[in-house]
This record gives sequence, C-alpha cells and structure tokens, in this order.
Amino acid sequence: MAINFKGLYIGGQWVNTASHFDDLNPADGAVWATVPDATMTETVMAIRAAHDGFKAWAALPFQERSNYMLKVASVIERRKNDLVEALRHEGGGWIGKGMFEAGYVPEVFHAAAASNYAAIGEILPSENNKFSLAVRRPMGVITCISPWNFPALLTARGIAFALAAGNAVVLKPSEETPYTGGLFFAEVFEEAGVPAGVLNVITCSRSRVQAIGDELIDHPAIKGITFTGSTAVGRVIAARAGAHLKKACVELGGKDALIICEDADLDRAVKAANFGSFMHQGQICMSVEKVLVHEKILDRFLPAFIERAKALKVGDPSRDPASIIGPLINDKQAARVKEQIEDAVAKGAKIALGGGVNGRFVEPTILLNVTRDMLVYRDETFGPVVPVIPFSTDEQAIAIANDTEYGLAAYFYSRDIGRIWRVAEGLEYGMVGINEGIISNAAAPFGGVKSSGLGREGSKYGIEDFLEIKYLCLGGLNK
Ligand code: NAD
Repeated sequence: MAINFKGLYIGGQWVNTASHFDDLNPADGAVWATVPDATMTETVMAIRAAHDGFKAWAALPFQERSNYMLKVASVIERRKNDLVEALRHEGGGWIGKGMFEAGYVPEVFHAAAASNYAAIGEILPSENNKFSLAVRRPMGVITCISPWNFPALLTARGIAFALAAGNAVVLKPSEETPYTGGLFFAEVFEEAGVPAGVLNVITCSRSRVQAIGDELIDHPAIKGITFTGSTAVGRVIAARAGAHLKKACVELGGKDALIICEDADLDRAVKAANFGSFMHQGQICMSVEKVLVHEKILDRFLPAFIERAKALKVGDPSRDPASIIGPLINDKQAARVKEQIEDAVAKGAKIALGGGVNGRFVEPTILLNVTRDMLVYRDETFGPVVPVIPFSTDEQAIAIANDTEYGLAAYFYSRDIGRIWRVAEGLEYGMVGINEGIISNAAAPFGGVKSSGLGREGSKYGIEDFLEIKYLCLGGLNK
C-alpha cells in the first residue's frame, strides 16, 4: 500500500492539501507514496512562515544554531536505514548508492555546524581614529530547489550552510523525489526540535512547478536562491533572480571527462572509469561522460573496462539488492539516452558493450569511434553510456576535455608530477580529480564553470552566497 505522508511542513506544522500526487517507484511505475500537492496559497504561507521564523533564528547565538545542525545530523544517522530504503524505492538506486548518500548527509550538517566557528568578517585598513569592519550577516529567507538524482545529499548541501549561517529556508524538492529530497528533512527537523519556521518544505506536482517556482523567486521576502538541477532550468532561474537583483547559486549539468595517461596506474583508472560512468546509472552531475585514453594503452584499458562493466547486474534495486544498475528515473530520461545511442550508431559509432534499452533500464554501454557531430559527444547523457576516445598528446586530451559548453568536474590519471600540474591547470573545470574518480567532500567548494553553473556550495566559499557583506565604520574614537 502506498505511503501517505503527514502533509507539507510549514511553520513547524503539518499542513494538509486539497490534492495529492503519486510518487512512483521508477523500477516498475508502482505508486510508492502519495504526496501533498501544494498550491500558491501554501507556497505563500511557507514563505511567510520562513520570514516569521528568520529573526529569532538569526538572533540565536551561533553555537546554538550549530547545535541544532548537530542534532539534525544525529537524527539522520539514527534514521539511516529509513533513508536508504526510501532512496531505493523512490529513486531507483542501488543499495550501495543509498548507503553512501545516507552516510554523507550527516557529514554535510557537521560541516555546516563547524562553519559557524570560522571567522566571518575582517578588520579593514582604517583612517585615523576610525575603525572599519566588514561583517557578514544572514540574508533572510532562502529558496532551495533540489533535483532527484542525489535528492538527500543535494538538498542537504543546499540548505545546511544557509541555515547554519542564520537564514530560514523554503525547500521545494523535485517532484520525482519529494520524500528523500524534502519531507524526510521535515520529519528530521521536527524531531531535532529546530524552531518553527526555520525550515519549511513544500512539495508539488510537475504541472505546478513553474508557477510555484516563480513565486519562490519573485516573492519580496525571498532574498536568495540555491538551485541544483539542469542547465536549461538553472538559466531561467538565474535570469529571473537577476531581474530582481537577488543572488542565485545554480549548480547545473556537466559533460565530465576522465583522462587516462599512458603512465597511469591502470587498475585504479579502470575502477574510476567504471564507477564514474555507471554508478547510479550515470545519473550524477559528476558522472564520467567521456573517457579519454592514451592510444598507447587503449588495447590494455578497453578489455579491462569492458570486463568490469559486464559484471554490473541490471535490475530492480528495490527488490534485488544485487542489482547495481537500476532504472533511469523516468521515461523521458530513458528516451533521451536511447536517442543518443541511436544517433551515435547511425553516425558511425561502434558499440563495444551493451546498447540495450528495455523500458527505463539501460545496459552499461561503451561506445567507440565517437565523433564531434554526435549527440553523445556534445550533450549531457545522464545515463550509463560512455564513449572511449583515444588521444596521443596531453594538449589533445585537454582540448577534447574542454570541447564542451560545460565545466563541472574532470579527472585524470598520471604519475608524472609536472604533467599533473600542466593538465590540471589546462582543464576548464570547477573541480579536478587527480588520480581520483568522482570527488566530493563536505568541506570543499562544490561547483562548476561555464554552463555548469554559478557560485559554490559547501565550505567557507559556499557560505558567501547566503550572506550579505556589511561595511561598518566606527568613528569618534579619539574623544
Ligand atoms: P531539473 O532542472 O529538471 O529539476 C531540478 C529542480 O528544478 C526540480 O526540483 C524541479 O521541480 C525544479 N524545476 C523544474 N522546472 C522549474 C521551474 N520552471 N521553476 C522552478 N523550478 C523548476 O533537473 P533534474 O532533472 O531534477 O536533475 C538533473 C539535472 O541536474 C542534470 O542536468 C544534472 O547534471 C544536474 N545536477 C547538477 C548537480 C550539480 O551539483 N552541479 C547535481 C545534481 C544534478
């Protein structure tokens, strides 16, 4: 029987709605839960509740806000298994992905709690008998709009630092993962005893997203927006926020490259290619979307890569924990991945492994002879499909890696320290993993360049998006 959640979470209360929408298990399309479908009325209520909660929250001693973040972390730690189960059913994820994500989320709240203990201002050069300071202050109500692929982690990254800094938040998770990206946090914040109005969660169906999303930017009480999702939607949100002169941190899509030099530790590089290309069916913004291999080692790399990928079992992870490659999140995404495979084959690509698409399930697929005119070379795939492209010089590898509108994360493997520096500097990306596959750390600034977004999340750099700088000048000190 489908789960029925308590309601929207507004001003510390559970608020029922007139209508609900279905939250599907992507593996079989069955209704896993029914979820409140918010209207404009509840959206405005949530914004007002956040506005009302802000002042008292911002006025708390910073240690108290940090303590609440630590309480939130410990409730999530205690409820780890609930979150893993929900991620498997609502998100179609492998159990290992759920364990990783549910383990990482408390760490984000730990990092946010710790961020309050770092300096937040500076003493500026001051003229005689004056004392000039730059201080940082919370902004007010922040909107967080989060995606479905790592719903709990990316919601946590969006809200934790903003809240710790003294802002209140209205959270709107993806309609594909309204529980793991939204209402789960409402339950946790209620249990942790975080004051009413600090976190407000509204969920809505696809047909209401645009109108509610607009209000979550336009309303005068909203002072900043943190968005994680596609580049197409992120552009619209950043432009709308810009028209109001509101700050927007937008974490968007990627076409991330992994470069494997001929002096690489091949075993580790193969593991990174496998994990990066196929983990969560390639539905990670930092997924490896192009593997560039030095031509001298291609004949050793390719069979090893194929062998590993072949071993990944495709199936329903909500029923069979041994299934590593689960379904893509919805039919639209499966159709897009299928189109990319067909387009590549029609234009001369060779399938070295996989290629099969069965409903929302896509086999791990490795493509050869991929050229610039193919969709799979240019567009984000967000599926378990990856081209392997040979190169002969570092300059060529860097040029291919940079030949994209995106710039989120790139990775490369080499043992040569000079080369490491040159290649890392040449890559036009916000994040670079050196002898490391997918990189992420709650204390690091997460974000991309070019069409991968604006701003950073996490760490002291990420907090800047949720704080205003105020210049104070204290005079009359000679009297
Ligand atoms: P999406 O852009 O379709 O949706 C993201 C969120 O925006 C959802 O909550 C959705 O309901 C909301 N939304 C959609 N249209 C809106 C509108 N007009 N106004 C306001 N809100 C709106 O993205 P998605 O399909 O959920 O996520 C996949 C994409 O996210 C991929 O492109 C992926 O690369 C990217 N992503 C980026 C990062 C990162 O940190 N850079 C992380 C994860 C995912």
